[in-house]
Amino acid sequence: MKEISVVITMDCEPSTATSHPKATGPRDWAMGERAVLGYAGIAKEYGFPCTFFVHPETILAQADLFRQLEREGHCVGLHMHPWKYSYWRYRGERYRAHFGDLSDAEATALRIRGSRVEGAETESGFQAAGAVIVAAGAWSGMLLSAFGPGFGIEPVRGQIALLRGRPGLLAAIVGADCHYLIPRRDGRILAGSTVERAGFDKTTTREAVDELAAAARSLIPALSGAPVETAWAGLRPGSPGGIPLIGPHPSVEGLFLNPGHYRNGLFLAPGSAALLADLVLQRPPLLDPAPYLPR
Ligand SMILES: Cc1cc2nc3c(=O)[nH]c(=O)nc-3n(C[C@H](O)[C@H](O)[C@H](O)COP(=O)(O)OP(=O)(O)OC[C@H]3O[C@@H](n4cnc5c(N)ncnc54)[C@H](O)[C@@H]3O)c2cc1C
Repeated sequence: MKEISVVITMDCEPSTATSHPKATGPRDWAMGERAVLGYAGIAKEYGFPCTFFVHPETILAQADLFRQLEREGHCVGLHMHPWKYSYWRYRGERYRAHFGDLSDAEATALRIRGSRVEGAETESGFQAAGAVIVAAGAWSGMLLSAFGPGFGIEPVRGQIALLRGRPGLLAAIVGADCHYLIPRRDGRILAGSTVERAGFDKTTTREAVDELAAAARSLIPALSGAPVETAWAGLRPGSPGGIPLIGPHPSVEGLFLNPGHYRNGLFLAPGSAALLADLVLQRPPLLDPAPYLPR
């Protein structure tokens, strides 16, 4: 007989009293707590732990409840809706109501008094903060070098070309040397990428797009007739050795760094953010921070 895996999960929405009456959450936090404990209790009768997908609003309001459930062997994870941060809908207000203001204003400088950071000067005024994290990607060096070392953070341009292939032509990601191809379900194939030191210039170039298309066609000869539909470029935050900086600034109190993820920021983001949070909140760190500490 095949093995059967059982996963018992619960989506823990915020209370409708804090979101809106038509939302699917409980009427109030007390009702939410009863539902969560009742569900965990039923699962326990059958010997199963639960996995709770907890909305950020809920984990803030019911931190003690979920800490207790974790201690009892249940699994607690965050249930995020990135669109709630977005400005295209609700102007980011859905999470702002719970986490304070989210500003998309550009930070123009850090305000430092003595050896302590006090906050950031931004386009829309001064933003005071007890702790400041510089995570401005390739632009981080600009903010940092105004008062000390820029830690070797530099922009490294990467260009990508999109070829119009046909569905089914390529079933999986393939790569050779520094080139790779990523198939999309609709048949389009993403061909990446260049590694260029071109300053803060995010434009694409004809030579690079031709090179990417040629590499794609040499990897998959069936792409010989596939036209390049579009191309784009991004700036990676390059760092010495491609090692990210994670942790406190060596001489400015309250200032933390998190740039330099170079080619791997998407893969490294969860671990990097968790380690940084431990260091900012002075908790025992998830892993040894030594290789990443800014020096
Ligand atoms: C073509 C290409 C392909 C890639 N492929 C992969 C991949 O397959 N896997 C992978 O793991 N990584 C990949 N990467 C790398 C990945 O994109 C980066 O490592 C990652 O984006 C770095 O994240 P970050 O948040 O540090 O910087 P960014 O993503 O650059 O974000 C920095 C943010 O800070 C903002 N900012 C800058 N200055 C200021 C300021 N003064 N005030 C306020 N905001 C500011 C910027 O607008 C930006 O939104 C790729 C990169 C490129 C270019």
